Amino acid sequence: MITEIRKIDKNQIDREAMSWAGEIIRQGGLVAFPTETVYGLGADARNASAAKKIYEAKGRPSDNPLIVHIAEYQSLSELAKEVTPEARLLAETFWPGPLTLIVKKNDTVPNETTGGLDTVAVRMPDHSVALELIRQGGGYIAAPSANTSGKPSPTRAEHVAFDLDGKIPLILDGGPVGVGIESTIVDLTGDCPMILRPGYITREMLAEVIGDVKVDPALAAADSVEKPRAPGMKYRHYAPQAELVLVDGDPERVVDKINELADTAIAAGWKVGIIGTDETILRYSRGETVSIGTRRDEDGIAQNLYRILREFDDRKVDKIYSECFSDLRIGQAVMNRLLKAAAFHIVEV
Ligand code: AMP
Ligand code: MG
Repeated sequence: MITEIRKIDKNQIDREAMSWAGEIIRQGGLVAFPTETVYGLGADARNASAAKKIYEAKGRPSDNPLIVHIAEYQSLSELAKEVTPEARLLAETFWPGPLTLIVKKNDTVPNETTGGLDTVAVRMPDHSVALELIRQGGGYIAAPSANTSGKPSPTRAEHVAFDLDGKIPLILDGGPVGVGIESTIVDLTGDCPMILRPGYITREMLAEVIGDVKVDPALAAADSVEKPRAPGMKYRHYAPQAELVLVDGDPERVVDKINELADTAIAAGWKVGIIGTDETILRYSRGETVSIGTRRDEDGIAQNLYRILREFDDRKVDKIYSECFSDLRIGQAVMNRLLKAAAFHIVEV
């Protein structure tokens, strides 16, 4: 299959290209598209065989359910058995935006889309190209991130092309995404709302709207006895090819430790990459050094994360040493991705 890449200006959408993209979706095909979080790989959520194609293209385990993307608030009630007051409040407050709600599903959602679960994940993305594709494609687009399963999520169309070239007919190129990490997932089907995946919308932001919110205890550590409630969170994920090691603690000591670890690895013959910040990057003088941005611009750090992990793959680095970002507002989300990419390998200094 030839993969076509079409540039779409999000302020001046190419109607002809979008109606073609919608036609592909309505006929059961796949289209990769930009959202504000990461690029998605979309199919008609109500067409079981179309949803199946997503799993094939990504090499995704079939028990890992998809998020259904909608463009109108009322579409939530077409998918959910019941729209609770909490779901309505969160949707009204944060949609369109990087928040996914897990609700009880009704019969219009096929099991292929939800990995056999009786719940469904729903989100309204904040991106004009995504919203137009959803409308043109019939209103309900199931979409996971548009990467090969296990790789860092794509934040640019080039990343999608690298992973999926020849496997899908069309990539809509809307340029680099805004947020850079996947949506916050909150489960509204239990006694208390629970975050299953941290993201740009934090626990504090949710709590301001609906009160007490828990965090899935399984997110805390690799060897947690708890099974994650979002099936996707159990897979090795977001991972670069290199071995990633995180160093946390006093900022001065972190720099020294990373330099020491890099020296040892280089002496052993490994190709080393270092992820620092604008504040520290000049103090790393060995290996391939990359700044993820300044600590004063948290959003920039989230935006750059996956691109940097992919670039280290391109440069065939063997080991990556990175600073930590737990103290940031979106630190929980960024650290969740980094810890998984590092298989929870963290050195405290
Ligand atoms: P991705 O599409 O790559 O952003 O992954 C979607 C995430 O949402 C995965 O971690 C899924 O396991 C999770 N997810 C989707 N639907 C559900 C659901 N019904 N219940 C719990 N988690 C879900
Ligand atoms: Mg993903």
